[in-house]
Amino acid sequence: MNPPRKLHIKSYGCQMNVYDAQRMVDTLAPEGFVETASVDDADLVILNTCHIREKASEKVYSELGRLRAVKDEAARHGRHINIAVAGCVAQAEGQEIIRRAPTVDIVVGPQSYHHLPQLLAHAKRHGRALETEFPIEDKFGFLAPPQPDKIRARGISSFVTVQEGCDKFCSFCVVPYTRGAEVSRPVTKIVDDVRRLAENGVREITLIGQNVNAYHGEGADGRIWSLGNLLHRLAEIPGIVRLRYSTSHPRDVDDSLIAAHRDLPSLMPFVHLPVQSGSDRILAAMNRKHTTGDYRRAIDRFRAARQDIAFSSDFIVGFPGETEEDFLATLALVTQIGYAGAYSFKYSPRPGTPAAEMRETVSADEMDVRLVRLQELIDSQQSAFNAAAIGNTVDVLFERSARNPGQIVGRTAYLQPAHVMASPDIIGQVLPVRIESLERYSLLGELATHPNARAIQGASSQVAPSRMIPPQMTTGA
Ligand code: SAM
Ligand code: SF4
Repeated sequence: MNPPRKLHIKSYGCQMNVYDAQRMVDTLAPEGFVETASVDDADLVILNTCHIREKASEKVYSELGRLRAVKDEAARHGRHINIAVAGCVAQAEGQEIIRRAPTVDIVVGPQSYHHLPQLLAHAKRHGRALETEFPIEDKFGFLAPPQPDKIRARGISSFVTVQEGCDKFCSFCVVPYTRGAEVSRPVTKIVDDVRRLAENGVREITLIGQNVNAYHGEGADGRIWSLGNLLHRLAEIPGIVRLRYSTSHPRDVDDSLIAAHRDLPSLMPFVHLPVQSGSDRILAAMNRKHTTGDYRRAIDRFRAARQDIAFSSDFIVGFPGETEEDFLATLALVTQIGYAGAYSFKYSPRPGTPAAEMRETVSADEMDVRLVRLQELIDSQQSAFNAAAIGNTVDVLFERSARNPGQIVGRTAYLQPAHVMASPDIIGQVLPVRIESLERYSLLGELATHPNARAIQGASSQVAPSRMIPPQMTTGA
């Protein structure tokens, strides 16, 4: 029997890349690959890249420079390291990577990574392999399912892709070009995936998609199901105590999604609903296809369905033509809605997008100033939201042992990390916690005895840190 080959995979960007990286690991497992945390002993290194902003894609080339040195050093000892670039930079700049980075053996777009075993074989025979087509077949039909031990090692919280691609074509965004047209997976496949995860200890599922609430998958009844219908079905699966979804578009908030929030206790009352700007003029230039009024009405519908619902969002500052007045409208919208957190970004022109051709650019200095002003406002809202938990008893899903000995960490419904002193046996359970204090973005408290405590038995106590949306959500990267 051949010794296992080692795979090191590094993911950049969104949660879909985190999910895709896991699926690449699962796909390469039957080929004899096991994961390694170190580049130095890897036989295959995959960079799973992000193209959403310039800074994100630049990282790939600097990382390739570092990998070249590692590869050359290994070659001096007679060892060949294969280097693959996957993800959205691979899709957008495949030929350019082949030209600029001779150290790269394989370039594979996000829709083709189920072909990795064949691409490796091709690279071995012919030197290099590039695949950035959008294949006709659905890659999910070809990906190996994760093994039970892998699922358990990944923790009690899992992402599941239900939808990919985007047909919205916001004028600043590369996603429709790198991820392709909107495609939804069939309901039965998603149900099978979630059932397998639940049977192996997963307690929380986050359904992901570039535009997840545009989901329109085929049901077993032959009809098209919405995200709300899908959530109702998944809530019936034994073992799943929490459901989430991300990222949503304000235009695709329909009645079934609102009904799901009204009817399903396991659907968490925390919605990421990006708005990008508080100015209708800028929203039109962004081709967002919604106004601030549409956005406020969507928020009101969620709030009417569930009073304890909280929101996060994405904002872009310095979009071409954004005036001080437009920016003030963004601050006003943030003040009016009141967020539990938000991501904010400086506009980054992306080659091939309509906004990149717009002339009326905002200066880099002005963008910096606006970003700081927006982040200060968002930070103050986030701090107030976190502080409001002090003195309350809140449900926490426990995920893993914390860094401090004896402490266990979990998440509240709003993804706030919450720490208690307790036995690791509570990992995988939702338990009430009396919140006593706040340390930066973490809540500290103690287990409360609660008449409605929902103790879920049976999850593994040996779990890896779950990869969730980070608690500090404001970033200018
Ligand atoms: N589908 C989601 C939506 O409709 O809002 C967004 C997905 S996108 C991968 C994540 C975020 O990246 C966007 O919400 C936007 O704020 C930010 N983003 C996308 N393109 C950008 C650009 N060219 N410059 C700066 N930020 C950008
Ligand atoms: Fe990009 Fe989201 Fe707009 Fe689609 S809806 S183009 S993913 S920002």
